[in-house]
Amino acid sequence: MKKQFWTSILGLALATLSLSSNAVSQEVPELTLQQAEQLREQALESTLALDITASLTTEVGARLPGTDADKKAVEWGMAKLQSLGFDKVWKEPVSIPVWLRLHESAEVIAPFPQNLIISALGGSVSTPKNGLEAEIIHFDSIEALESSADGSANNKIVYISKRMEKHSSGRGYGDAGPARFRGAASAAKKGAIGLVIRSIGTDSQRSPHTGVTSYEDGVTKIPAAALSNPDADQLDRILAHNKTTTMRLNIQTEVLPDATTYNVIGEITGSERPDEIVAIGGHLDSWDQGTGAVDDASGIGITVAAAKLIAQQQRPKRTIRVVMFGAEEIGVFGGKQYALDHADELAKHIIGAESDGGAGKVLALSSSVSHESLHVVDEMLKLMAPLGVVRSSAKATGSADFGPMVRAGMPAVGLVQDFTPYFDIHHTPDDTFDKIVPEELAQNVAAWVIFVKLAADWPGRFN
Ligand code: ZN
Ligand code: ZN
Repeated sequence: MKKQFWTSILGLALATLSLSSNAVSQEVPELTLQQAEQLREQALESTLALDITASLTTEVGARLPGTDADKKAVEWGMAKLQSLGFDKVWKEPVSIPVWLRLHESAEVIAPFPQNLIISALGGSVSTPKNGLEAEIIHFDSIEALESSADGSANNKIVYISKRMEKHSSGRGYGDAGPARFRGAASAAKKGAIGLVIRSIGTDSQRSPHTGVTSYEDGVTKIPAAALSNPDADQLDRILAHNKTTTMRLNIQTEVLPDATTYNVIGEITGSERPDEIVAIGGHLDSWDQGTGAVDDASGIGITVAAAKLIAQQQRPKRTIRVVMFGAEEIGVFGGKQYALDHADELAKHIIGAESDGGAGKVLALSSSVSHESLHVVDEMLKLMAPLGVVRSSAKATGSADFGPMVRAGMPAVGLVQDFTPYFDIHHTPDDTFDKIVPEELAQNVAAWVIFVKLAADWPGRFN
């Protein structure tokens, strides 16, 4: 009885102690705020993110998952993190399918014969060796296709003409994207033998936008491609003549045996809570036609530079982990594998964020954190205000690669970028280094150092 009494008194005292230390720990330390402000100014002057982005896009170039270039990218990532002095650098295997683009061409046969510029969608199967020739059936949207009668597209090539609208929020991608994401399966269900879509992009260059398309089990896999936007305009004008329009489509692709790529990981070990992780990163792979400068070498450059600048100033209290995810483009293979590999340390992931929105300025900060920790996000916003960053009411999703971790419960923020320029070149041969505006890339790093520094040094939890 007596022992129980003293135990409960002790328990009460400990509880009070931890309550009060919790209450104290809720404030962001003044020194952390000052250091974050200094980091912001340093980041605006630093070319480190730009240098890293130039290094990846120049020394490796395009890096389609499973190719030799992808292997080179993994080696590049390991070497880059080591040369920057990260405390731990390692890689984790990710099993992936390997898809290669060999040939793509399209031509209108009738009524007005002419060539059109296309890009095969990622994962597309091949046409017969000499291509296939069929009548075009036109739908304004994927919804129109999906609500058409069974057999509506029998033995035809489906053409979806929906135009992606340009918004700084990038919301047009959500509206137009499904034509690419699931168009091939939807067209096949209506009996089609091929799919062409207007590019999911906002430019008017003859530079079609690729990107992955998904097939469905039990549904015939049909070849699928995107027309460049001017070529889609041209096809629209041809179709407006209301004459039977036929097209020849020749897509040759190859699927190799499954291969292994890697998530490349680097850590700056925390000084006080090394087991607790602030997880950031981007994806290392890219499509095959450009050099993946804005998608997503920039995200790699931004997050690696942010971690490095913070470490240079003072060792963070928590560990900063930078993940260069593998094989995002062909189906978020690295992100899904990371969530599986690190499921047992989910609770150690204090917060996370991915940079995968190009190189445009950060416009807003979204979050997915507890109500009790929102004041830390407020402090981040105060420090980001001079950068033009405002609060976003949207929930942070962790972007594609940290999405599985966030859905499992990891808190997150989102540094929401200006998508206005992004979807002009996204997934095209024009995604090259020259499109990056150095000042805008530096502004990203300036916003990221604030988020990462506060998250690493504030002693509380975000959930
Ligand atoms: Zn991306
Ligand atoms: Zn992409």
